[in-house]
Amino acid sequence: MSEYDVIVVGGGNAGFSVAHAAAQRGRRVLLLEKGDAASAGGNSYYTAGATRMVHDGLEDLRSLIEPDERHERAEVPPYSVEDFLGDLEKVTEGRGDKELAQVVASESRATVQWLHDLGLRYRLMYERQAYERPDGSYLFWGGLHVGNVDGGVGLIADHTRVARELGVEVRYAAPVTGLLADKGTVVGVRVGDEEIRAESVVLACGGFESDPVWRKEFLGDGWENAKVRGTPYNTGDLLRAALEIGAARGGDWSSCHSVQWDASFPDNESNRELTNRLTRQSYPLGIIVNREGRRFLDEGADFRNYTYAKYGKVILEQPGSVAYQVFDAELRPMLRAEEYEMAGIVPIEASTLEELAQGMGVPVDEFVQTVSDFNASIDTSKPLDPTIKDGRRADVVPPKSNWASAIDTAPYYAYPVTCGITFTFGGLKGDTHGRVLDESGTPIAGLFACGEMLGGLFSGNYPGGSGLTAGMVIGRRAGTLA
Ligand SMILES: Cc1cc2nc3c(=O)[nH]c(=O)nc-3n(C[C@H](O)[C@H](O)[C@H](O)COP(=O)(O)OP(=O)(O)OC[C@H]3O[C@@H](n4cnc5c(N)ncnc54)[C@H](O)[C@@H]3O)c2cc1C
Repeated sequence: MSEYDVIVVGGGNAGFSVAHAAAQRGRRVLLLEKGDAASAGGNSYYTAGATRMVHDGLEDLRSLIEPDERHERAEVPPYSVEDFLGDLEKVTEGRGDKELAQVVASESRATVQWLHDLGLRYRLMYERQAYERPDGSYLFWGGLHVGNVDGGVGLIADHTRVARELGVEVRYAAPVTGLLADKGTVVGVRVGDEEIRAESVVLACGGFESDPVWRKEFLGDGWENAKVRGTPYNTGDLLRAALEIGAARGGDWSSCHSVQWDASFPDNESNRELTNRLTRQSYPLGIIVNREGRRFLDEGADFRNYTYAKYGKVILEQPGSVAYQVFDAELRPMLRAEEYEMAGIVPIEASTLEELAQGMGVPVDEFVQTVSDFNASIDTSKPLDPTIKDGRRADVVPPKSNWASAIDTAPYYAYPVTCGITFTFGGLKGDTHGRVLDESGTPIAGLFACGEMLGGLFSGNYPGGSGLTAGMVIGRRAGTLA
């Protein structure tokens, strides 16, 4: 008899969710994590902890969020299953797996509550997902309101403590190198020379975003140069192993989640101290220009939560794979402080647009023309209001559909950005319980996958805060069966 019932591969949010659910059923669970204790936690550690979930508004959320004196002045619009499904449908342009989407959306509320009841701490994300109105009240926007206390660092600390309390054995510095299969049934894993057997193996070990060779092969030329935002360990090891024993590929292997990412900080990959602070997410307020001094996308097409994950790719495609986010003195105080006022980050600053262009190294005439065309085309009949899609449009090419504000008050600021890759959308093909399927659609006995490893939910784009939700919902389901 083997020593364990369930082996979980990967110690991120998805893996721990599996482990808790299985341990609660009395299963003997071993979680194997590639990183040592100081570098563990996967991409989940690097997150802001932002968790997209269905809810009925502030009163409904009170059972799981920390108290805060601002709650009395907060407006938190309800977010329904239909809203969540509609957002997934919109951003993936209908390419996502509908069954998976239905399960993730409809079980999101209950699953966050389950984790909270186990000991994970949640809060309302005032600093990221709400704007303070002139009367001192807060309006939350973009369908994403709840996050972990202390972000991803708090998420992983809480998960680790809960796993220990539930009797899960966690082994660090234990990279799984292969799967053990017997007549088509997965019966364990290999860690170097060691073979460890169990009734079920659950793969929760991320995508292939940290492997430049596979990035180039599946995402295309140039992706080998993208900056890795999160863990360096998600190199697709178990994707390869599962494909070798007959698992089918699931979802969109040609696209990924990627964002605008700091281009000037020397240590801007897998940085465990700065984690998510190297991202630059207040771009809907300003304009973005490339090395030619030209705008090239609609900064205000939608709330940041629905555009940010596809704009990294657009930056990658610009000359030199860099661009500059430009703001003026009026806009700078509205930028997310944790990202734009981060210690060690010095924006390019100038008292004229000409000097700013020189500081960025972009053609002066082009840039000044871009800004003056933009400023002249703004529909000033509508007031600037970042809490809603305000329709304050700049009618230039490309247009800016919302939140257009003239760049005309010195000093001017530019933040250089490049493409930071977050995770790949392609993974293994599985059902809504995380059972891995072969090419004929038949479950491979003993094998499950969840989190980034499970393909199908996202394609081309992604609604912010859904990665953690997907991992915990399907992870919990897999842990309930495994
Ligand atoms: C900077 C950043 C910010 C983000 N912010 C958010 C956010 O706020 N909200 C949100 O929903 N999503 C966010 N995401 C996306 C989110 O991180 C992922 O969707 C989610 O964390 C994936 O969880 P996971 O458990 O599947 O993978 P991970 O958390 O990456 O865990 C995978 C684990 O598997 C381990 N592993 C890999 N290979 C092996 C092997 N061979 N053997 C053993 N272990 C292995 C890795 O070391 C890692 O610990 C962010 C990502 C990044 C990088």
